[in-house]
Amino acid sequence: MPRRSRSFRVGRAKTGLGLFATKPIRKRAFIFQYTGKRITSKESEKREARGARYIFELDKNWAIDASDTRYVGRYANHACRPNADADVEKGKIIIRATKRIEPGQEITYHYGKDYLENVLTRRGCKCPTCTRRRARQRAEQRLRAERRKKREAAKRKAVRKNTKRARASAR
Ligand SMILES: [Zn+2]
Repeated sequence: MPRRSRSFRVGRAKTGLGLFATKPIRKRAFIFQYTGKRITSKESEKREARGARYIFELDKNWAIDASDTRYVGRYANHACRPNADADVEKGKIIIRATKRIEPGQEITYHYGKDYLENVLTRRGCKCPTCTRRRARQRAEQRLRAERRKKREAAKRKAVRKNTKRARASAR
């Protein structure tokens, strides 16, 4: 079987290393197979407890550990709104584009709900969607704080005015 030429390279991403397209990848196209060491689910639990970060669950009994740097799958980062997805096809983990990817764009896929809840939330997801959402939330919080300050200042002013008026009418 001829080797399919790669359509990506490993490069510097915002959160360490990542995979970047080197040519246009059309929607649904094969990008790579997530390869690694085949381990049992029991072994995978042990390794994850020790902090292994590149284990992909194949099914109930098996998992793929791509911790070794020669496995390229470990470099693909998670994103909440990714441009690729990972599917198990005939016992293999296949990464395919879910939309057209242009050269230079980072290739990302969703690591799954469990990963997001158990691993990422501790430090917070750093994907573009979450980074933007947090920036927006911070801006909104600032805006709300400013509005609150203004409202409170206006209230104080009104109170002062009323006290003055009360004093004036008392005379
Ligand atoms: Zn995210």
